[in-house]
Amino acid sequence: MKAEHYVGGVFRADGRTFPLIDPVDGSELGTVPEAAPEVVDDAVTAARAALKGEWGALGDEDRAAALRRVADGIEARFEEFVAAEVADTGRPRAFAETVDVPRAVGNFRAYADLLYGRPERSYTTRIPGWSAGTGQALNYTVRRPLGVVAIISPWNLPLLLSTWKIAPALACGNAVVLKPSEETPSSATLLARVVHDAGLPGGAFNVVHGHGAGAAGEFLTGHEGVDAIAFTGESATGAAIMRNAADHVTPVSFELGGKNPALVFADADLDAAVDGTVRSTFTHSGQICLCTERVYVERPVFEEFAERLAARAADLHGYGPMISAEHRDKVLSYYRLAAEEGATVLAGGGAPAFGDERDGGFHVEPTVLTGLPETARTVREEIFGPVCHVAPFDTEEQAVGLANDSPYGLASTVWTRDLSRAHRVAPRVETGIVWVNCWNLRDLRTPFGGVKASGIGREGGEYSLDFFSEPVNVCIQI
Ligand code: NAD
Repeated sequence: MKAEHYVGGVFRADGRTFPLIDPVDGSELGTVPEAAPEVVDDAVTAARAALKGEWGALGDEDRAAALRRVADGIEARFEEFVAAEVADTGRPRAFAETVDVPRAVGNFRAYADLLYGRPERSYTTRIPGWSAGTGQALNYTVRRPLGVVAIISPWNLPLLLSTWKIAPALACGNAVVLKPSEETPSSATLLARVVHDAGLPGGAFNVVHGHGAGAAGEFLTGHEGVDAIAFTGESATGAAIMRNAADHVTPVSFELGGKNPALVFADADLDAAVDGTVRSTFTHSGQICLCTERVYVERPVFEEFAERLAARAADLHGYGPMISAEHRDKVLSYYRLAAEEGATVLAGGGAPAFGDERDGGFHVEPTVLTGLPETARTVREEIFGPVCHVAPFDTEEQAVGLANDSPYGLASTVWTRDLSRAHRVAPRVETGIVWVNCWNLRDLRTPFGGVKASGIGREGGEYSLDFFSEPVNVCIQI
């Protein structure tokens, strides 16, 4: 797959390039063009022109139809999208087949439906009614697009997370400039092909490739022609983007990092809790923002739980690599730090040796740690690898306190068979999402996002439509 920019309906790959590396064996997969400021500028100008032209003139029904054509186009190229995600990330094929590509299709269909599938819930008109008090005016609210929306996406779920923002942004009538992660350019290029073939007017959707700081990402998020920024990535990057966007008071929607806790109570179905924590810690080698990195277990079952989790971790096979040599080194540096901080390593703790070409890739072992104080950096900082620290607690109060003692607040899991406890604990855990006796069970209509350093705002269903459109109140005196 050759990565190309897509600007104003035209594919181009001018300027400097950088290599795309296969994380499975370290070989070079191809080259990626690095967007110079002029390319970013062209994309923003093309997006603005689309808003003033054919794209901006489309009604809800036609935009919904366009989104459905994009969904169909992704489905028609299912195999190519699977291949692109697998090549760029090294993820197991089954993951791309069952998660990434179906969810991308689902993202476009869900927002087409929300926009023009159920007219009674149309986002364009809300809460018409008499003005409170006087009864002499009719107020109603219409929604209009924000304008040019910059979308910056990470490498961990490249297609799923970018379409999670692209679909509602387009549904609301915005024009989009996407800057995918420099590590994973392929599915974004393919998506541009699909959008092109689906006949969306040139400029409605644009893709510029390149790096973040001091490069395409920074040019785009600081561009005065950008009306809103939707970003998923690290919290520190979010802070840099916010500073960059401040000069133009550009609104932001941020989905950022996490250090997600799991609370396992002694009354839990322990088999389900172990199974669930294996999934929540090690799925996609821990490279999902929702993955668990801190596990707190009620003391009577602590030892049994930790041993069973460690045994399962040691027995994992077929897991994918870290995305890059740099990220592998970062995760391994935390494994070393954990040892220095005094951790007991129950499973893993290093890099595996396969004795084949995978040894040139970026694998790390699934790792279970215990014995660290809550102040340890390993327990406080996001590692974003297949690793968790397991610690005991004695009371419900203490469990909630431990879960909340973090700068982050994205997602948590609570394992208990006590219904009252579940309802007591869940609202007190300071995360945007709390899963009880499950993990990553998603309904795309529900609010998704984090508190504290894990994000700003919520996306999902109508929450996304709220961010990607501007409410305008019309007041008519009668
Ligand atoms: P990252 O912050 O390094 O990069 C994300 C994107 O931002 C990339 O496209 C990158 O090029 C760009 N970027 C970097 N610096 C920039 C700058 N100064 N200005 C503009 N753009 C810039 O994140 P990553 O390593 O790709 O992804 C992993 C992180 O993403 C983890 O912290 C993870 O928790 C988080 N994440 C959060 C969610 C969520 O929904 N909350 C989902 C997935 C990933």
